[in-house]
Amino acid sequence: MRRGTNLPWVGDYNQAVVLDGIRRHPGTSRTDLAVASGLTVQTVSNIVRRLLDRGLVQEGETRARGGPRSGGKPRTALSVRPGAALAVGLQFEREHVDAVLLDLDGTVLDAVRRRSPDPSPSVRTAVEHATGAVRGLVDGCAHPDAVLGVGVAVPGPLDFAGPVRTSAINLPGWHGVAIADLLTTSTGLPVLVENDATAAAVGDLWRSPRVGRSFLHLHVGAGIGGGVVLRDEVVRGESGNAGEVGHVVADPTGPRCSCGATGCLEAVAAPAAVVARYADRVGAEAARAAGLRLSPRTVLDDHDRLSLLAGAGDAVAAAELDAAARAIARVVVGVVNVVDVSEVVLGGSGLRLAGERVRAAVRAGLGVAMTREVHPVEVRLEEVGERAAALGAAGAVLHEALSSTWVGVHVPPREIVISPVAPVH
Ligand SMILES: [Zn+2]
Repeated sequence: MRRGTNLPWVGDYNQAVVLDGIRRHPGTSRTDLAVASGLTVQTVSNIVRRLLDRGLVQEGETRARGGPRSGGKPRTALSVRPGAALAVGLQFEREHVDAVLLDLDGTVLDAVRRRSPDPSPSVRTAVEHATGAVRGLVDGCAHPDAVLGVGVAVPGPLDFAGPVRTSAINLPGWHGVAIADLLTTSTGLPVLVENDATAAAVGDLWRSPRVGRSFLHLHVGAGIGGGVVLRDEVVRGESGNAGEVGHVVADPTGPRCSCGATGCLEAVAAPAAVVARYADRVGAEAARAAGLRLSPRTVLDDHDRLSLLAGAGDAVAAAELDAAARAIARVVVGVVNVVDVSEVVLGGSGLRLAGERVRAAVRAGLGVAMTREVHPVEVRLEEVGERAAALGAAGAVLHEALSSTWVGVHVPPREIVISPVAPVH
């Protein structure tokens, strides 16, 4: 866990440190928290009292230190109280919006997916769908008053100047849309917007009992994005757009990208690119005969189909998926060299069947990473599946509301209370 300080004027910071420790380590004790945080037992006890009074944590069974026969002083197990603080996470994709309701203890209480009625829904339609999903989750839960806000994960790039906006180029027609303002008005809840890959990284961080992690979270949905965490700090950059690995040039001779450049990773290796190349090589008729539907809204399903075909011996499907996996691996190795992470997490709906193939390529590619003889780089698939960004966005809301150490990107102060950042000494 993070280190605390015993200076009385940073009580909020210490409170966040202690709450974080209890949340990550259910069953921990005041003494354990004091040892891990560097705070005195008295300071921890005072904070725990306040957290108990606020109903955020609860006491459990008491156990003797070192076991029942040791005669040690008894310790009371602490955990966050289920239902004390909740958040909704939304994840906009081209074909659907996912909504999840997340509890402070990490439990996903409910989840819904609303499919868009047309392949390129208008912003209004998408916001109506999302609002309906949010209302359904909030109204249907046992503690609607405990919902602190809505976290929204959208593909980048985002424009956070002034009111929170997004010009997400992967969602046609969304250029310049103030999504946070729209959703704040329609749901009546504070709204926080996060780049989808960064949101997925925040979620991974939020759920992890480990501390001091440095990792790249590669998110492959309709597009490709990346979230970077260094020593538990989320790297957002100047405008919340750090980690746009999808727009690193992977093949200068490749196709033109939606961003205007040529041969970006996204244009070369995103599901739509792989499906298009396959159809190009075998012909549309043969592709349809092989089970592809070749419509903009079936890209992810078609991409899954290619993995199945490759597994059944279709050499063209295997070759195209492998080419995409190698392109992803090249860019990932570049990022690993630049930011020196020890983990690469691969997730998103574009990897639900192609994940192992990409993981193998990234593992092989890391054989030339600059740090290969200094420390290993673990490569794994995202464990929570396709809703990682929605879960991360919800986790970001809880983090924002309950931690004084992190100020994310959010609607103006009148909409959400921003805790001050703890001074660094
Ligand atoms: Zn691009």
